[in-house]
Amino acid sequence: MLFIKLGWKMGIKNLTHEVKEFALQQDVDLVGIADVERFVNAPPGLRPTDFLPRAKSVIVLGFRLPLGALEAAKRSYEGLRSAAQIYGVHAYQVVPNLRLLFAANALARFLEKKGFITMPLPSGPLGGLTISHRHAAVAAGLGEFGWMGLAVTPQYGPRQRWVSVITRAELEPDPLYKGPKLCDRSKCSVCVKVCPTGAIPEGESKRVVIGDRIFEYAKINPAKCAIACEGLREFGIPLPENPTWEDLEKLRQLLPRFPPGSLFTPYPTYFCGRCLIYCPIGEDKLLKEYFGREE
Ligand code: SF4
Ligand code: SF4
Repeated sequence: MLFIKLGWKMGIKNLTHEVKEFALQQDVDLVGIADVERFVNAPPGLRPTDFLPRAKSVIVLGFRLPLGALEAAKRSYEGLRSAAQIYGVHAYQVVPNLRLLFAANALARFLEKKGFITMPLPSGPLGGLTISHRHAAVAAGLGEFGWMGLAVTPQYGPRQRWVSVITRAELEPDPLYKGPKLCDRSKCSVCVKVCPTGAIPEGESKRVVIGDRIFEYAKINPAKCAIACEGLREFGIPLPENPTWEDLEKLRQLLPRFPPGSLFTPYPTYFCGRCLIYCPIGEDKLLKEYFGREE
């Protein structure tokens, strides 16, 4: 009996190792694994088992964003508006999401060949109605939340995009992140300051329980964030102090229309992401690692 149990555990360990090796061969930079119990506090309809009953594990893949593409976003905020599309394509909607979609699909096929039904989820804007990839990344031990609500990692800070893959394979979960605190609100409030629509409050927060840890981050106003991300301020049409989704919808009706599901933002080349781009977490480490200098 003991030998059967040991053999079964070894099987899980070996499969976990194979999954991680395969994932990293798909041109992603980070891979972590959570068991589905870590999602028990997620809202109904947004849990892995809602999508794949009897799922056992969630594999999360992270794709690091090129620093040059983030530099392009900074140029666009400084006035060179044509640079916004560089960020939009290479760090926001197109390349990271396509890479992640292909990696997730390949991983699902890999696990299905081994006999486990595996569901690759969409990434980016298309993934909004499935499980939250940023929560999944934290549940998979890849990092914690920054005040701006994104998952931040010791390697790259907030400079990555995510996708999740749900599987019936039992895999070894990674421990939750327990390293040094990545976002220290007593020393930094850059994201609050740079947010152009005040979507990130200074003090109001939200708590989530994942495994044995409680995480806290700002209670973001999603309508205010959407105003900036969709470029709705660009048209000089006054917006209410506390806009509702209905206010946004009325405004959208006034603007040029693009085909539904377009990969590109339907409005002028405008993407926000200032909270990601200017967050200092991991920046020094990245510059040192890739360019051999401190800053
Ligand atoms: S993406 Fe822009 S508008 Fe949204 S929270 Fe971040 S800084 Fe604010
Ligand atoms: S900008 Fe500062 S406060 Fe905001 S998430 Fe990053 S480290 Fe935390």
